[in-house]
Amino acid sequence: MVYPDSFKGFQIEDPKNWTEFHLNDLKPKPFGDFDVDIKILACGICASDLHTISGGWGEQHFPLCVGHEIVGTALRVGPKVTLIKPGERVGVGAQSYSCLQCRQCKADNETYCRHQLDTYGAVWPETGIVSQGGYSSHVRTHEHWVFPIPDGLSSEKAAPMLCAGLTAYSPLVRNGCGPGKKVGIVGMGGIGHFGLLFAKALGAETWAISRTHSKEADAKKMGADGFIATADKDWNEPHIMTFDLIINTASGSDGFDLEKYLSLLDVHGKWVSVGLPEGSGQEVKTQTFMTNGCLIGASHLGSRKEVLAMLKLAVEKGVDSWVEEVEISAEGLKTALTRLHNNDVRYRFTLTGYDKCFGA
Ligand code: NDP
Repeated sequence: MVYPDSFKGFQIEDPKNWTEFHLNDLKPKPFGDFDVDIKILACGICASDLHTISGGWGEQHFPLCVGHEIVGTALRVGPKVTLIKPGERVGVGAQSYSCLQCRQCKADNETYCRHQLDTYGAVWPETGIVSQGGYSSHVRTHEHWVFPIPDGLSSEKAAPMLCAGLTAYSPLVRNGCGPGKKVGIVGMGGIGHFGLLFAKALGAETWAISRTHSKEADAKKMGADGFIATADKDWNEPHIMTFDLIINTASGSDGFDLEKYLSLLDVHGKWVSVGLPEGSGQEVKTQTFMTNGCLIGASHLGSRKEVLAMLKLAVEKGVDSWVEEVEISAEGLKTALTRLHNNDVRYRFTLTGYDKCFGA
C-alpha cells in the first residue's frame, strides 16, 4: 500500500536502541473534511524528538516516527478546508489538534486546550491510531495547524521555526519583549538561537546566557548585545537585577543553579521556562524570589496567529535560521540525533533529500 492509504517513515522501535531507525509503513488517520495531506520536503530535528525516542520523558507509543518541524507541499485538501490550497508550500509544527471550541481555543490559546494532540505520539480519539511525525513521506493534518510558508523563506530554514522558532517567539511577544527591554535567553540550542534572533528582531537589548564561552562568537553574529557564561566564577554578580525578561530554553538541569539565574531579574521581572529537562526538575523556595519579587512561569508552543506573525516578521527582518542540513536516511538520522545528544549542532539540523529517499 502507498499514499493515500499508507505513508512511509523512519521509526524507533525500542527506546533502548534510539539511534536505530527503521523505514516502515505508517497508517494515517482517516482523511477528514478539514484535513490537508502534505508531501514532506524538510523537517527540523528538535530536542523533544530526542527526549521522546530515548525514553527520557517516560513511556511512549513505540514504534514511533518523530519530527514536528515540517515543511512540504499540500497535495489534497478536505472538502471543508478554506485556509490552504492544493500545491501550496506549507508547514506543520508540534501540535496537530485542539477542540477549537473551548475558552482557551477561542482566546488564541489553543496550545493550552485540554484536548490538544501532538503531531507525533498522540492517540487519535475513536481510531486509536498513533500520530506519526515528519521523519516520513507525508503527514495528514487539520488545516488549523497547517501554515502557508512565505516565499521569502526557504524550506530548510523555515522548518525549524515551526516548533523551535515559535516556542521562542510566543513567550517573547506575550511578555513584552521589545524596545527598551533587556531580555536574556538561557541555552543556545535550537530554540535558544531563535530566542536571540527574534528578541533582536523585536527590538530588545538581547543577551545570551550559555554555560561556556564556546558559542559567544556565534551569539554576537546573531546580534546578541551581551553574553554571559555560567561556568565563570560569580557569573551572576555583575548582572544582578538588570533583566526584564528571561526565557529559559535549557534542555537539561544538571548543575543548573536556578537561584543565580533568578537573581538576574529586575523587580517583578519574568522567568519563563520552555525547556523540558528529563527527571524530577528543580525545587524553588519562596525566599529565593523575595529579593526581586520575580514571576516564574512557562510557555508551550504558540498559537496559529503567532505562527503567521512570526513567519511575517522573519521575512520582514531577515531572520535567518542557522541550520545544518542532513539527508534523511537511517544513517543520517543516527548521526544527527547522536550529535544533538552531544550538544554538537550549530544550531538546528534540518532533514532534506525527501524526494531522493521517498520518491518525487
Ligand atoms: P537543544 O538541545 O538544541 O538546546 C538545548 C540547550 O540547553 C543546549 O544547547 C544548552 O545550551 C542548554 N543546556 C543543556 N543542558 C543544560 C544544563 N544542564 N544547564 C544549562 N543549560 C543546559 O534543545 P532545543 O532547543 O531543541 O529544546 C530545548 C528544550 O525545550 C528541550 O527540553 C525541548 O524538549 C523543549 N521544548 C519545549 C517546547 C515548549 O513548547 N515548551 C517545545 C519544543 C521543545 P548551552 O550550550 O548554550 O549552555
